[in-house]
Amino acid sequence: MRIADIQDDIDHELVSKEQIEAKIQEVAARVSVDYKDKDPLVIAVLKGAVNTVVAFTQALSIPVQMDFMSLSSYGSGTQSSGVITVRQDLSTDVRGRHILIAEDIVDSGRTLAWLVEELKRRGAASVEIFALLEKPARREVDVDVKYKGFEIPDEFVVGYGLDYDERYRNLDSIAVLKPSVYQGDEA
Ligand code: 5GP
Ligand code: MG
Ligand code: MG
Repeated sequence: MRIADIQDDIDHELVSKEQIEAKIQEVAARVSVDYKDKDPLVIAVLKGAVNTVVAFTQALSIPVQMDFMSLSSYGSGTQSSGVITVRQDLSTDVRGRHILIAEDIVDSGRTLAWLVEELKRRGAASVEIFALLEKPARREVDVDVKYKGFEIPDEFVVGYGLDYDERYRNLDSIAVLKPSVYQGDEA
């Protein structure tokens, strides 16, 4: 699905499909060098990071192992609390592994901070992060993102895996919805 298909719902596009693809190629080239002899395990958190991890791993020039995790963060409203529950765990033993987390977006940073600690606690040899998007204005906890995509303003975005009410994940770029899309919900 492209912006043109849902013109009525979109306020503006923030990152185009072409920009995303170019950035992912660039990061994947660096990672392919950095992890050449490390037999990395790429981990993605469902569901938001799915589009990113697929494009990213396809752009690598080295073979990698992939695994997935589903987490839920309980908190009030749209704020993630940092209290994380594992809904679906990895099927891989991470002990001694070099892990690269592929993430859609770093907002408060609480989800990633928890995940990095958890993977280290389980005995990972190293843990680094590729985040397609970051909202620096909303960061609450320190997370070291080694491979960076785009910094975006403090706006709620959808597309490329990111949802509003489980929809718009299949948009091929990153965009901000019109307020009317949300207002329709409150009625
Ligand atoms: P954090 O723990 O960093 O606050 O939360 C990160 C998670 O919140 C992301 O993985 C994503 O699922 C969700 N999130 C944060 N900002 C946005 C946004 O602008 N749009 C959407 N759709 N999800 C977001
Ligand atoms: Mg995520
Ligand atoms: Mg969501």
